[in-house]
Amino acid sequence: MTYIKAKATITAYSSDGSIYSVAPHAVVPVNSNEDIISALITAKKDNLAVSVRGGGTGLSGGALGNGIVLDMSGYNKILDIDVSKRMVLTQPGVIYDELNIFLKKFSLFFPPDPSSGDSCQIGGMLANNSSGPRSVKYGLTSDFVEELAVIRPSGKLITLKKLRLDSTDLVTFLSKNPEYQKIHDILQRNKELILSRWPRVKKNSAGYNLRQVTENLGRGILNLPALYVGSEGTLGVFVSAKLSLLPIPTEILTARLYFKSLVKAGEAALDIQPLGPSGLEMVDGST
Ligand SMILES: Cc1cc2nc3c(=O)[nH]c(=O)nc-3n(C[C@H](O)[C@H](O)[C@H](O)COP(=O)(O)OP(=O)(O)OC[C@H]3O[C@@H](n4cnc5c(N)ncnc54)[C@H](O)[C@@H]3O)c2cc1C
Repeated sequence: MTYIKAKATITAYSSDGSIYSVAPHAVVPVNSNEDIISALITAKKDNLAVSVRGGGTGLSGGALGNGIVLDMSGYNKILDIDVSKRMVLTQPGVIYDELNIFLKKFSLFFPPDPSSGDSCQIGGMLANNSSGPRSVKYGLTSDFVEELAVIRPSGKLITLKKLRLDSTDLVTFLSKNPEYQKIHDILQRNKELILSRWPRVKKNSAGYNLRQVTENLGRGILNLPALYVGSEGTLGVFVSAKLSLLPIPTEILTARLYFKSLVKAGEAALDIQPLGPSGLEMVDGST
C-alpha cells in the first residue's frame, strides 16, 4: 500500500465537484483489494475515517474526508464481457465514457448516462445511483447491476447477487452472512410503509435504495446489489461490478424545442412522455 501525505496530493484531494473543502490525512492509490484492506486496518489502528474517491465529480462532497482517501482511479480494468448474455464485468475505476467506447465494438451500451460521463467512474455511479437524461426511458444505474463485489468496513470481501427467496443459494448466503437476514426481515415488515411513502418519480437517488429492494422482495427476489447501489460509499468499497447492457439503438432522432418559460417546458415534458422518448434534457440560458 502506498500512503501519500505530500502537500500537493493533500491539496488535490481536498476538493471535488461540490462546494466543500476537506483536507485528507493521507491518500492511498488503490491497485488491488489488498491496498483497500491494508488501508482499512491502518485507519482502524489510527482511528481515522475512510472515504472512497472515484472521479471526484460528485456534487455533495462524498469523496472528501479528513482521514484516508482511497483513490480508485487506478483500479480501472474491464475484466470480462459476455456478448450473448449482454453482461460486462468491470473494476470500479473505469470512466463511464470509456466503458461505452469499449462496448460500442460489440454494439452494446451501458444506458445510465450522467452528464459528467467523461470523467465520472463506474464506482461513483454505483455509489450515487447515477443516471442522466436517458433515465426517462432506461432508469438508474441500480437497474443494470447484476452482481457487486464489495469490501466491507471490516475488510471482508463479499459478493452480492440477486437471490430468489425460495432458493438454496439464499439459505447458504444467509447462513454465512446472518446480518442480511435482519435486513430482509426489517424490509419485509415495513414494505407497505416504504412503498407508500417513496416519492413517485422516475429518478430519485436520495437515501438508501429501499424502494427497489422492497419492490423486488414483492417479486420473490432479495436484490442485494440494489441495497448497496446509492449508498454513497457508506456501506463498503465496490471492487467490481457485473453490469447488464443493452443493444445500441439502430436509429436515433433528436429534436430541440424552445419554450418561453420553465413551466411551459415542464408541461411539455409530460406531454412528450406518451411518445416514449429515450432521453430528455433541459438546457436553460445559463447552462
Ligand atoms: C457537470 C456535472 C454533471 C453531472 N451530471 C450528473 C447527472 O446527470 N446525473 C447524476 O446522477 N449525477 C451527475 N453529476 C454528479 C456526479 O458526477 C455523478 O453522481 C457521478 O456518477 C459521480 O461519480 P464519480 O466517479 O465522480 O464519484 P465521486 O465524486 O468520486 O464519488 C461519489 C460518491 O461515490 C463514492 N464512491 C466512488 N467510488 C466508489 C467505490 N469504488 N466504492 C464505493 N463508493 C465509491 C464516494 O465515496 C462518494 O460518496 C454531475 C456532476 C457534474 C460535476
